[in-house]
Amino acid sequence: EAAPDEVAEAGTERRPAGWIEQITPGRFAGQTVVVTGAASGIGRAVASRVAREGGRVVAADLSGDKLGELVAALADLPAGAEVVPVAGDVSDQADVARIVLAAGDRIDALANVAGIMDDMSAVHEVSDALWERVLRVNLEGTMRLTRAVVPHMLEAKEGRIVNVASEAGLRGSAAGVAYTASKHAVVGLTRSTAVMYAKSGIRTNAVAPGGVATGIPVPGQAEFGAPVLRPHQVNILSLATAEELAASITFLLSRDSVNLNGAIVASDGGWSAV
Ligand code: NAD
Repeated sequence: EAAPDEVAEAGTERRPAGWIEQITPGRFAGQTVVVTGAASGIGRAVASRVAREGGRVVAADLSGDKLGELVAALADLPAGAEVVPVAGDVSDQADVARIVLAAGDRIDALANVAGIMDDMSAVHEVSDALWERVLRVNLEGTMRLTRAVVPHMLEAKEGRIVNVASEAGLRGSAAGVAYTASKHAVVGLTRSTAVMYAKSGIRTNAVAPGGVATGIPVPGQAEFGAPVLRPHQVNILSLATAEELAASITFLLSRDSVNLNGAIVASDGGWSAV
């Protein structure tokens, strides 16, 4: 039996041999998509895929340098596609206003990917500073971007919002109380945004990743919570790649997800199904 923290190389167990991203040319042609957390990990994979599928991407992140690297890496984009980098903090209202201003009047879709882990503090240990920082980025940032784009989408009578929750947003987790609470709150924000605008053409869904091989530290299974872990789960717990998550997120960002609203889509290779 595998040790609790043992995970296979990212994506290796679920993927068919030779899996590559199936780009859908032109899927986002003529559309503007705001992606936060776009400088690395899942957000970078989403920004890159939307641009390669013809979209105009407003790529927001704290790290302007890394956004520059993304733009440089995407040299051969189709006609009309573009990546507009905006360095900014999603938890800062003035920065959020700049990000949305860079998008212009028409905003077809928003991916709220920016997020931070916490230091695994239990509730009796958590500091005010950590609690506030994690909630400000993961929850408030998601709310601020949503609040800013909805008026544009109401005017257009169409829009898609995709939030990134987590396995830790679906059930109790030992990944840290601030992170877990913030991701549960993102699920609640997603559902109520979906209900509020259901008749206005705006659809809001969330993706709940399991472990993904990115810059963010991924806790081992033991930290995620021994009570819910069964031995056979070890076999489906290899980390996903950022590109696998981008495949799920871009589906939700596109018109193809037309009948999904308020869905919390577990993109975890089956982990949460056990
Ligand atoms: P990552 O650290 O590689 O990327 C996160 C990006 O967000 C970074 O580029 C960072 O600079 C940016 N960012 C952080 N705070 C910001 C802020 N205040 N304003 C603007 N940008 C900010 O991590 P990742 O794994 O790609 O995480 C993306 C999302 O996926 C997060 O919301 C995370 O909670 C979620 N998630 C990740 C995993 C995982 O295993 N990696 C699992 C579940 C959920």
